[in-house]
Amino acid sequence: MSYDITLIPGDGIGPEVIRATARVLEATGITFKWDEQEAGEGVMEKYGTPLPDHVIESIKRNRFALKGPITTPIGTGFRSVNVALRQTLDLYACLRPCKSYAGVLSRYSDVDLVIVRENTEGLYCGIEFEKGTGGLDKLIALVKENEGKEIDKDSGVSLKVISEKASRRILQFAFEYARKNGRKKVSAVHKANILKYSDGLFLSVAREVAREYTDIEFDDVIIDNACMQLVRNPDQYDVLVLPNLLGDIVSDLCAGLVGGLGVAPGANIGDGYAVFEPTHGSAPKYKGLNKTNPMATMLSGVLMLRYLGHKQSADKMEQAMAEVIAEGKYVTYDLKQDRDDVTAVGTSEVADAVIERMKSLK
Ligand code: NAD
Repeated sequence: MSYDITLIPGDGIGPEVIRATARVLEATGITFKWDEQEAGEGVMEKYGTPLPDHVIESIKRNRFALKGPITTPIGTGFRSVNVALRQTLDLYACLRPCKSYAGVLSRYSDVDLVIVRENTEGLYCGIEFEKGTGGLDKLIALVKENEGKEIDKDSGVSLKVISEKASRRILQFAFEYARKNGRKKVSAVHKANILKYSDGLFLSVAREVAREYTDIEFDDVIIDNACMQLVRNPDQYDVLVLPNLLGDIVSDLCAGLVGGLGVAPGANIGDGYAVFEPTHGSAPKYKGLNKTNPMATMLSGVLMLRYLGHKQSADKMEQAMAEVIAEGKYVTYDLKQDRDDVTAVGTSEVADAVIERMKSLK
């Protein structure tokens, strides 16, 4: 079996973790023809944009991409390439499984949660009104006229937009995922008690969609309570579905429950295309040091194999990784008891160990 897959190495530690992952994926015996594409700050000068059209075209052609993290500089011109990619390709579901692996230091030993985050709207819809602009003046006047409320002129405003259509498809995605993957329960997480017309709409659609999936248990929980309950007893949840910003925050919280970003994979999925990438960012201070953990990107590769229908290869790759982690010998600094442990290996040595381990598995 052979696949053309778009490969976006990204920047910072991206190229290292992507290279390690590509080698392990190739060792499964499946043939990947990588269509390598550059995006981010590094291509700004050449193409005038951090996300050139040919990168989008490549993903549209191949339908699947494996992507490394891309830096979003703070306070400079360009908005996040990652957000732009998700919106352009309508990758509306961000899937982030958070699972405990024996050998990873954590306060919990048996977490198995899946976060489904809405990826296209909410507070990330990109509609903002800057302090002191004419647009803000018009908004202030409109709010005064319609609501009788005053917004101070020295404010900045970001809109939270939640639509019925986007809510319905992310909730259906969560329930379908639960059904296909033998999950028992879906919990909708929200702040509908305060945000009555945005999260309130999300919640009412959640209740409607839940009625179509009587085989899956459903409940809903307010975000602040959800955070406390997750830390106290993560076992009470299974699949969590959330609006965009809440999903972003809870994804990292759950990554923390299983030992950190080094083992937190992710996928951005739409009806036509999917981009697989780790939850972590580009960790610029570790760039080029062959130091950081490639496991999160490899686990994103495992998710990709499952999406391509290669369950056996996915299981084998994941088992090899789990065994390498449990053994604790060929792991990066972040998986050692002591982060200064000099026996920690580098990014590429982890890939070597996983490949060796796969050879010994049936
Ligand atoms: P980060 O995830 O890059 O790094 C935070 C810390 O986590 C690092 O200093 C490091 O200690 C640790 N870490 C991260 N990945 C690791 C790994 N694979 N192995 C071991 N330790 C690891 O978060 P940040 O510093 O907030 O963000 C850096 C840049 O990445 C920012 O520009 C941000 O916008 C971007 N970012 C991109 C994506 C993406 O491309 N999808 C996601 C998140 C952040």
